[in-house]
Amino acid sequence: MGRSLSTYKKKRDFKTTKEPAGKKEISTSRLKFVIQQHAARAMHYDLRLEIDGVMVSWAVPKGPSLNPATKRLAIMTEDHPMEYRTFEGIIPKGEYGAGPVIVWDRGTYKNLRDVSMEKALKEGQLEFFLYGKKVRGGFALVRTADKTTEKSRWLLIKMRDDEASARRNPVSSQPESVKTGKTIKDWKKKIKEMEKEEK
Ligand code: MN
Repeated sequence: MGRSLSTYKKKRDFKTTKEPAGKKEISTSRLKFVIQQHAARAMHYDLRLEIDGVMVSWAVPKGPSLNPATKRLAIMTEDHPMEYRTFEGIIPKGEYGAGPVIVWDRGTYKNLRDVSMEKALKEGQLEFFLYGKKVRGGFALVRTADKTTEKSRWLLIKMRDDEASARRNPVSSQPESVKTGKTIKDWKKKIKEMEKEEK
């Protein structure tokens, strides 16, 4: 049994939101990843890794750190369709996750373990190398507790390699979308303008 998008679809009304309904797609080239900044009720960064035809997803409240000494909480969320990795825009009020989303970083990744990503996921121990525009290098995602709950808690930890840095912090120094150049602030301004026009 592979991974499924049923939870993703249950949570959304595709007549209202512009998010893609999507389907499973098995890549023939390199594995993809995306990090989407998402200003929902609470700001967070959604890290999504292509595994078994879907984007397996974690919400990282503080975003990734390049400092190996800094462990970042990552809460697993529902699998998203492959298409979702290019989604940027506004999730409308009343919809699940309402608020702006930007494509904060994207690229490909390489599995660093000698077991498949599917198996590593089950074990709760992923090690991978990200080739993004802002974020590069080896990372580990380690499950910390109860694996039976849907929203399991993991830690995202930068591995010690040449790309590690205690000083560089793209979360604060590079807030703009790698797709459009827009920031979350820009999208929030647009939402305000739209709300004015409605009145
Ligand atoms: Mn999110």
